[in-house]
Amino acid sequence: MAAAKYHGVDLDIRDFAKEPNEDSPSPATLARWLNNQGLVAKGMRIKWRYLIRLYNSPPVVLMFKDGSAGLMVGVNPQKRVVFLRDPMGNEHSAPVAVDEVRLRQAWTGDVLLIKRNRNLSEAEADINFTWLAKMVLRERTSLRDIALASIIISILQIFPAFIVMQVVNRVVAFHSLATLISITGLLIVLCFYEILISYARRELTAVLANKLDARISIHTFNRLLALPLEYFERQQAGRIVGKVSQIYLVRDFITGKLLTTFLDLFTLIVILPFLFYISTILAWLTIAAAGGIGLIVVILLPPLTRRYSQRIEAEMTRASVMYETVAGIRTVKTIALEPTRRQEWDEVIAEVSKWRLATSRMQNWPETLVMPLDFFINRGIILLGAYICISNPTAGIDAGSILAFMMLGGRVAAPLVGMAKLLTDVTEVRTALGQAGEILNNPTETKALTTGLRPKIVGHLQFEKVSFTYPGGNTKALSDISFSIPAGTMLGLVGRSGSGKSTITRLLQGVSRGYTGFLRLDGVDLREINLTHLRRSFGVVLQDNFLFRGSVKDNITAGRPGLTMEDAIRASRLAGAEEFIERMPSGYDTFIEEGSTNISGGQRQRLAIARAVIIDPKLMILDEATSALDPESEALVNANLERIAKGRTMIIVSHRLSSLVNCDKILVLDQGVMQAIGTHEELLETCEIYRTLWLQQNRHTLNRKAANKKKNDSNDESLILTGDQ
Ligand code: ATP
Ligand code: MG
Repeated sequence: MAAAKYHGVDLDIRDFAKEPNEDSPSPATLARWLNNQGLVAKGMRIKWRYLIRLYNSPPVVLMFKDGSAGLMVGVNPQKRVVFLRDPMGNEHSAPVAVDEVRLRQAWTGDVLLIKRNRNLSEAEADINFTWLAKMVLRERTSLRDIALASIIISILQIFPAFIVMQVVNRVVAFHSLATLISITGLLIVLCFYEILISYARRELTAVLANKLDARISIHTFNRLLALPLEYFERQQAGRIVGKVSQIYLVRDFITGKLLTTFLDLFTLIVILPFLFYISTILAWLTIAAAGGIGLIVVILLPPLTRRYSQRIEAEMTRASVMYETVAGIRTVKTIALEPTRRQEWDEVIAEVSKWRLATSRMQNWPETLVMPLDFFINRGIILLGAYICISNPTAGIDAGSILAFMMLGGRVAAPLVGMAKLLTDVTEVRTALGQAGEILNNPTETKALTTGLRPKIVGHLQFEKVSFTYPGGNTKALSDISFSIPAGTMLGLVGRSGSGKSTITRLLQGVSRGYTGFLRLDGVDLREINLTHLRRSFGVVLQDNFLFRGSVKDNITAGRPGLTMEDAIRASRLAGAEEFIERMPSGYDTFIEEGSTNISGGQRQRLAIARAVIIDPKLMILDEATSALDPESEALVNANLERIAKGRTMIIVSHRLSSLVNCDKILVLDQGVMQAIGTHEELLETCEIYRTLWLQQNRHTLNRKAANKKKNDSNDESLILTGDQ
């Protein structure tokens, strides 16, 4: 049912911009899909009495029990009916009024609220303090509950102190056993409540922390995925990962120290008046001492921050070295680079240790300096209280008050000091946020991925004075390329290394978008086409393809919806992969290890070709796809190319010109300049560069031919002997 509906969705993807409220399978998947289309969709389950209040709202999609959906276009709360329209039907058909009983029969209770996302604000929000604050504030209800629990706990904490005060002053002084018993009872009840509420608070805090953690992780990853490929190419992968993981420091801060301090603040608000009630002098002294501690922390903050950022920088380099070594371990091992890598590692470790130690030392100072003040708050106050009590009995301080003060004074000092320490952490978090933001706040391609035209693609390609320079590059990788090929052409690209062949394919896939001139696909400017749509229309096979961990079949379908085993078999047959897959121990279920270590390079290449052709793309790009293959597999793939090419535009980049002779057109590039375009025979006649390349690669066979020719001239009979000529 849902699967059948899925096609319905697929079909109206194209009409999407016109009619955003179409029909769907499950609210959750649909919501996700709509979100990807640049809309805000929220699936939820609501009751009839809330549904009836949704007047003045944009159309709402109601999910029905048979898997279809209806469009609610209006509500009449007085008559208690909603107006429904068939989403597949005519846009001008009159809506039908439905009452509660009739709707109940079909409606699942799920609705989908949809609106246009104008500024992409949420998905596009930059990673900074504002973003953090907004995210935390979205959890207002949880925060309120936690705060409430904290206030109650604080109040409950006062009572034991108060009771101790009474016990000491009354019970001990007047030997009243009855009072003691009732006070004990009260104390037990209070303790019980405190346990209960503390439990609730911890539970709430854990839930909140978890929610925030999930939010941060999801947003971070989405942001990362939305960055253009070009960005990843310019940065070291290790650094990207290192910097992005800094976001977890931020998470720990929010859900840890920030929350605790925020809660302690309530304790402060509740307990402080009570301390003043017991003794104004002692209360002021406590605050003064806590203030002193805060001051020390703040003064020592800047040097600490400096060392801290050095430490982060060193740790980042360490992450990068580690990552690079693991990623390039094949090279490291095969050319015995271990000693060099080890030395490099030792150096970064030394640097990290140096700054770690410096940070810890610097941290040690405030912690040592505040100790006397801390002692004063927790112990000195008693002595001072006792002194005041002895020297000035009219001051209102008695043994009970001193004990109560002792119990509560520390609780006031802790949040005050905590707040000062928070300042230190805020700097840390700012550094961490900055690091993560440096990566994640780069311009994303989300806009291009979610907006733009979705034309039906046939494969007619047109380059018009296209020039391109890589960001940071100083020479043009492509200059003034102009050519045009009809749909279904097999185009070969040749040229020396670095001549711009791959750059042409990158422009086509919208990987590099900063080109000048015009690039048209079926007459539509490439920049106008939705990027996801564009990339889905391409099948791309590169020289070195990445296979994911998983079965052969999973790698061929690559998790794209709607692809079956039959598709996988058809694709592998087309790619010439069928024969070796069937020889594998478990056929299509054979597991491919990380880094595809258990299959050969040629096999990986053919799987990649199968992965590309399975979606039947109208355009295919093969960039040196067969260079790594042995002659036999190359011949196999090349033989299949003609079949693969049927009905699509193919762009084949190859150094081996012999594999391009059958192309409809061959484009010759040299240092980013287009030299010629034509068939193999035409180019041999007219293009100097092509002829040179061809001669270089075929000198061996040509020499042999020439030699044979000479031999044949001298002895006509050898013609019969060397029959292969
Ligand atoms: P090869 O046959 O070696 O694959 P190619 O013809 O595919 O070469 P391109 O990769 O298109 O060559 O490169 C063209 C030029 O652009 C080269 O001079 C190269 O230095 C430069 N270049 C390629 N990729 C980048 C990049 N990501 N950033 C900056 N410059 C690049
Ligand atoms: Mg290349």
